[in-house]
Amino acid sequence: MSGQDETRQLLRAIPSVEALLNEPAIARFTERMDRARLRDHLRRILGDLRKDIQEGRWNHPGETIVPEIVRRLRDHIALVHQPSLRRLINATGVVIHTNLGRAPLAEEAVEAMVDVARHYANLEYDLSEGRRGRRDVHCERWLIELLGCQAALVVNNCAAAVLLTLNTLAEGGEVIVSRGELVEIGGSFRIPDIMAKSGAILREVGTTNRTRLSDYENAINENTRLLLRVHQSNFRITGFTEQPPLDELVRLGRQYGLPCYHDLGGGCLVDVSAWGIHDEPRVQDSLRAGVSLCSFSGDKLLGGPQAGVIVGERALVDRLRRNPLMRTVRPDKLTLAALEATLRLYYSGRAETEVPVLSMLRSPVDALRRRARRFIRRGRQLCPHIRFHLRPGASVPGGGTAPDARVETVLIAVDVPSFPADAVEQRLRAHDPPILARIEDDRVVLDLRTVRPDEERTILDAFAAMS
Ligand SMILES: *Cc1c(COP(=O)(O)O)cnc(C)c1O
Repeated sequence: MSGQDETRQLLRAIPSVEALLNEPAIARFTERMDRARLRDHLRRILGDLRKDIQEGRWNHPGETIVPEIVRRLRDHIALVHQPSLRRLINATGVVIHTNLGRAPLAEEAVEAMVDVARHYANLEYDLSEGRRGRRDVHCERWLIELLGCQAALVVNNCAAAVLLTLNTLAEGGEVIVSRGELVEIGGSFRIPDIMAKSGAILREVGTTNRTRLSDYENAINENTRLLLRVHQSNFRITGFTEQPPLDELVRLGRQYGLPCYHDLGGGCLVDVSAWGIHDEPRVQDSLRAGVSLCSFSGDKLLGGPQAGVIVGERALVDRLRRNPLMRTVRPDKLTLAALEATLRLYYSGRAETEVPVLSMLRSPVDALRRRARRFIRRGRQLCPHIRFHLRPGASVPGGGTAPDARVETVLIAVDVPSFPADAVEQRLRAHDPPILARIEDDRVVLDLRTVRPDEERTILDAFAAMS
C-alpha cells in the first residue's frame, strides 16, 4: 500500500464527532462539561490529528486511533480546564511573599470564609434591631479590644487605606512628610503618586538620611492638614541618619492642632524580636506614641486576608467612613470573615500557633533540622539517584518586613544527576501543584519553614519523577 493510500485509510478510520460522543470513555467527560463544550474539544483534537496523519507525524495502526483520541482529549481537557489561579508549594523560605499571595490563612479563618461564602450573612444587617446595619462593625470590636483604640475601619488593602486617609483629611491641603519616607512599596505604590491622586499636596522636608523636628515645624503653615510618617518597610537608611521619634512628631502636631498619621504597612501585633526580626514596630507602639491614625495591611505580619486596617481616633475614623470613596474600597464578606477570625485568634492568645505566618516565623531551627533530616531520609528511599544534604541558611520574613531581617534556618540542597539547577527548578515549577524553590550557589535549595508537613510528600514525588 502506498503512503498516500495509508494516509487516506487512517483518515477514514477517524470516527465522526457524533460517534465519538457515544464512546463510553468519551461520554463520561459530559459529567464535567456540557456536550457542546466537549464537541468543541473533540473537533479541535480531530483537526490536529488529521494534520498529524497528513504530515506523517502519526501513522499507527487504525485500531489505535480511538484510544489515541481519548488520550489526547484527556490531556487537552486537563490543560484547558486548569484554573489560572492555583495553589502552590512555597519552598523558598520567604514567608510573606507578595508574588505568592502573601499570608496563607489560619484554618479558622478559612472556615469562617467558607461559612459565609456558602450562606447568607448579616454583612449589613443588625440582628438585634432587625434592620439594616453596617459592614464595618464586624472587625472593629476586635481591633478595639486588641489595640485599645477608639475606632477602626477595614478597606481592601493598605494602599487604599492611605488613599482614603489622605483624601479625607488633607484634600486641597498640605501633608508634611520626610524625604526619607517617600517610599515605593512595590507594585507601583509610591507615596508621592498616591498623595497626588488623593488631592493632597506633598510637602517634603529634610533630606533622604536626616530629618529634624524643626524641618517639620518650619514647613507648617495655614494650609497644613496632616503630619505623615511612613514606615520604611522594605529598605533601611543606615549610617548618618536622624528622624524625630514618633511621639515628638505627635507632640508637634498637637501644638499646631494637626493630626499625625502613621502608615505602618506591616501590621505586627506581637513581639517578633525573639524570632530574629528586629525594628519591626508593633501597631500598639504606634498608638501608644499618640498618633491619631495608623494604617496597616491585613496580609503581611498580621497573617490575615488582603485588607487595609485603619485604627485611631473615633472622630477621624468617622470622617473616613463618610467619604464617598469608602464605597469604592469597601471589603467583601469573605475578607471580613477571614480578618475577623484572624483577629479572634489574637484575642484568644492563639495567634502564634494558629496563624501560619507567625507559626512559620517562630518555628525553631532545631525543629526545622529534624524535619529536614526526615525529609532527606525519605528522599533517599524514594529517589536513590538524587543527592540531598543539609546546609545552614536564612529564611526571609518578606512582605515589607525589616529588609535586613534574616531568620536562621536549615536548607536542603538538592543535586539531581545530569539535571542542572535551573532545569530542576523548572521541573519543580511545572509540577502539579507547582513547587517554588530557590537556587543558591548553582544548587536548588528548599526551605521547609514555608512548607506544610503535608506538602513534603508532593515535593518528594516531584523529585522521584526526575530521572
Ligand atoms: C505594604 C505597605 C503598603 C501597601 O499595603 P498593601 O496592603 O499591599 O496595599 C503601604 N504602606 C506601607 C508602609 C507598606 O509597607
